[in-house]
Amino acid sequence: MIRITCLGAAGSVTGSCYFVESPGGKKVLVDCGLFQGGRQMEARNWENWGFDPSQIDTLFLTHAHIDHSGRIPKLAKDGFKGRIITSPPTAELCNPLLLDSAHIQEMDAEWQSRKNRRQSKNEIMPLYTVEEAEACLSLFSPVERDRIIEIGSGIKARLRNAGHILGSSILELWIEEDRESLKIVFSGDLGRKDQLIVQDPHEIFNADYLFLESTYGNRQHRTFEDSKLELLEAIQYSTSHNEKIMIPAFAVERTQEILYVLGEFQRQGTLPDIPIYLDSPLAIKATEIFRRNKKYYDKEARAIVDEGFDPFDMPNLRFTPTTKESIAINEKAGSAIVIAGNGMCTAGRIKHHLKHNLWRPGASLLIVGYQANGTTGRRIVEGAKHTKIFGENVSVRAKVFTIGGFSAHADQNDLLEWVGHFETRPRVFLIHGEPAACQALGDKIKEIYHLDTHVPLWKERLMLKPKEVSLEAPETREPEPDMETLLLNEVIDLEKQLKALKKRVKRAAAQNKLTGDELDQLKYLQEELRTVLE
Ligand SMILES: [Zn+2]
Repeated sequence: MIRITCLGAAGSVTGSCYFVESPGGKKVLVDCGLFQGGRQMEARNWENWGFDPSQIDTLFLTHAHIDHSGRIPKLAKDGFKGRIITSPPTAELCNPLLLDSAHIQEMDAEWQSRKNRRQSKNEIMPLYTVEEAEACLSLFSPVERDRIIEIGSGIKARLRNAGHILGSSILELWIEEDRESLKIVFSGDLGRKDQLIVQDPHEIFNADYLFLESTYGNRQHRTFEDSKLELLEAIQYSTSHNEKIMIPAFAVERTQEILYVLGEFQRQGTLPDIPIYLDSPLAIKATEIFRRNKKYYDKEARAIVDEGFDPFDMPNLRFTPTTKESIAINEKAGSAIVIAGNGMCTAGRIKHHLKHNLWRPGASLLIVGYQANGTTGRRIVEGAKHTKIFGENVSVRAKVFTIGGFSAHADQNDLLEWVGHFETRPRVFLIHGEPAACQALGDKIKEIYHLDTHVPLWKERLMLKPKEVSLEAPETREPEPDMETLLLNEVIDLEKQLKALKKRVKRAAAQNKLTGDELDQLKYLQEELRTVLE
């Protein structure tokens, strides 16, 4: 019997991780991603693995995005010494992405520790350090897609193009059981049909079991053509007002798609003659990796190369890796396109550009990616009239364009079409999606293809036999956190601290002894209140 435990991206979108145990006792992992999105979800990154990392022989990595790769440094730190099998571009992209993630972990831990010191609480250690992230890079063992890889004990695997981002892969896994071979397919994140830059997802015709991503299992995207027009319209709007165009972008794929489309406009002669800044060290590194990996482009991107162009370059494009160069962008008046991270405006250089331009009528903010609940980007998209940036209240007078069509994920129609290629009748497990999206996609698959579907819970264990499947409820089913109670408790905590502080301030003021310590604590409370209220 093959056992698969769903340790991440089960009933949620992030933290992708599946623990596979073969009948021969071999233990492998598929993906090892970071849980993202809110304190409760992120707390899962610190939990016990549910297996011994030193016993894991092989990790198959579908693609470089952090929600699929971001816990690899922790896995290695906790004892994993096996091979990481993935495509060459994924291995290359993981280098800057994991180091950047480690840097963020270190900064977050430092910020939390500073807060804790003020409350006489313990220091916080980062999930992993830059040094630990560097150490895991030697475990990467890149393998070209479309080749069968034997990993011993009757397990074979093959990576196929998933068409989501550069190097992204579908995993086909064959495991021998009682002289019968069982085939399990993990879709990884699947791209859209006609996705820019990368080839369309590989069609798979047979499997016994299919683990299918469901991120947009209940949604349809707008077309790329509509989105390109919206992008051009926004650029023309701010150019005519001599103001800046800000594009918060994710470093891998989205940034390169935007550069690719700007390049198209430029070759067609529709792009206004203004500077374009790529103001993100991580996106600059990722773009260089895209440039080095031309053999993975789709035929449209390759045709641009054959005509003698670089699809990610334009005469007006400037890379600004240093802080000094970044600051200089806002010292120059006039129109310019500024692409900066992070994609949801919660950190990074985009915050500086927002502070300088968001209040300027005629400027524009182009939202080209998903904005999670609670982020600055989301609040602006929802029509906030002002927003706090570096503690300052900044008015939103720039025009906000939400361009929804640049997703790198298959939508419901694409996913259904892809499932339609199977000639066998796989049992389908819907993963990597919010429960409603998984359910909606599962219902459609049942209705159209009459396949058996199941939405696994987090930590649920699936027992797979060649012709039957049994499910085991999660060993320790986590009680669903009650957000309202948690928030109320936090507010009560803050009220208590505020009361105590008021007394201290009153007493100190009466004696003319108001100290910096009290002011610091007030600032801290203000910060806390802001996070609760947001
Ligand atoms: Zn992805």
